[in-house]
Amino acid sequence: MTDVQEFKLFGKAMIEYVADYLETIRDRPVVPQVTPGYLKELIPEEAPDTPEHWKDIMKDVERVIMPGVTHWHSPQFHAYFPAANSYPAIVADILSDGIGCIGFSWIASPACTELEMVMMNWLGKMLNLPEKILFRPGGKGGGVIQGTASEATLVAMLSARSKATHKHGTDAITKLVAYTSKLAHCSAERAGLLAGVMVRCLEVDEDQSLRGETLRRAIEQDKAKGLIPFVTVAALGTTSCCSFDNLLELGPICNEEDIWLHVDAAYAGSAFICPEYRPILNGVEFAQSYSFNPHKWMLVNFDCSTMWVQDADAIVSSFNVDPLYLQHKFQGQITDYRHWHIPMGRRFRSLKIWFVLRLYGQEGIRSYIRTHIKLAHEFEALIEQDEKFEIFNPTTMGLVCFRLKGSNELNEALNKSINDEGRIHITPAKVGEIFILRFAVCARTTETKDIDFAYKVLVENALKLDCHASTRL
Ligand SMILES: *Cc1c(COP(=O)(O)O)cnc(C)c1O
Repeated sequence: MTDVQEFKLFGKAMIEYVADYLETIRDRPVVPQVTPGYLKELIPEEAPDTPEHWKDIMKDVERVIMPGVTHWHSPQFHAYFPAANSYPAIVADILSDGIGCIGFSWIASPACTELEMVMMNWLGKMLNLPEKILFRPGGKGGGVIQGTASEATLVAMLSARSKATHKHGTDAITKLVAYTSKLAHCSAERAGLLAGVMVRCLEVDEDQSLRGETLRRAIEQDKAKGLIPFVTVAALGTTSCCSFDNLLELGPICNEEDIWLHVDAAYAGSAFICPEYRPILNGVEFAQSYSFNPHKWMLVNFDCSTMWVQDADAIVSSFNVDPLYLQHKFQGQITDYRHWHIPMGRRFRSLKIWFVLRLYGQEGIRSYIRTHIKLAHEFEALIEQDEKFEIFNPTTMGLVCFRLKGSNELNEALNKSINDEGRIHITPAKVGEIFILRFAVCARTTETKDIDFAYKVLVENALKLDCHASTRL
């Protein structure tokens, strides 16, 4: 049924279902036990000819979908980084879908553009970002919601490329070189591939941080070869081990050399709303662009990656096309966001920031961040007091990097054993030659008992490996 009465019933039933799902998520195994191809066996090979009832769909959610869901919001999920999820954001997405606008220009839905501009300034102020990258009268800066941090990096790289070819001529494109660290997210390297430029992944120091000296040396080498350094992608909170590149050293070098500095703080960026973590962001004033993902750690459901730029014209002029069918009479008086990103269409994503900030308040979000960091320290303390394990690097955010004392193979076996068994879910990383286990505090509802449980699972699996090893001897 597709009429409005049925919509109301279906909608209410789904809200009930989602509320119950999230409430009882603890009872489900966090990693599904299915094998590839499981789903097509459970549904017909063709779409139905005639309408079905929504109640049949509801039944199939448990039968078809749930067996194949990895429960990212289970308190036993400690893999990757968190994916945000909150009631206000879910409700905001319902409204966004109801309005269903495609807000590419101001006139295409003024509220969609204007709420986004205000939200970017709200967030920018919460983060104490430099005034020059916020919207202000007569200013050049401003913020935009991108789908993902990868898109933000790509947009930064393409804008930097356009600025460089403007300065050096289009033939210079084959000489352009981008810098990032060996530990940067793979999206930095990928942005280089998509932009058709060289990317150099630079060495990090013993704290896994990209330093000014290293960048300076690379720039000198490359300039001597006739190459043109044009962009640096620095990370605050690397994906592998949450290390921080040294912005205060990289920033001035990039500014001197006229190199675009893009700062990617996809995960850790949310923590900078807490004054005690804000110093990590010092140096952002040197950056041409800065981005972080409220959809990771700020309770705003995917997709929502926020990006600020010092000079919006540098982006707009890279992507500007202006066909008649998209023009409007207020053009030039207000932001037309379609020039700020790769797709033309855009969802009304600022609604979920607005709902979340109002229903949690800044204090509520700070306290949420602090709770996650506290839980990570609890896990770190358990690892530290256990002589079987070692901490890889100090825990600063909600990620604990650690390993069993011993070989990479041993740690790979532990990782496999934990994930095969599926009581908790973790993902590993390799830093240099070292295989590490990553434990991220992810779910909104994670508590101390979940930390203790995860530690118990870890110890039991390590013990199993020990037994196997000793029976082999
Ligand atoms: C997670 C992460 C990304 C990728 O984020 P998407 O929004 O999925 O593109 C990029 N950089 C860092 C540092 C990350 O942690």
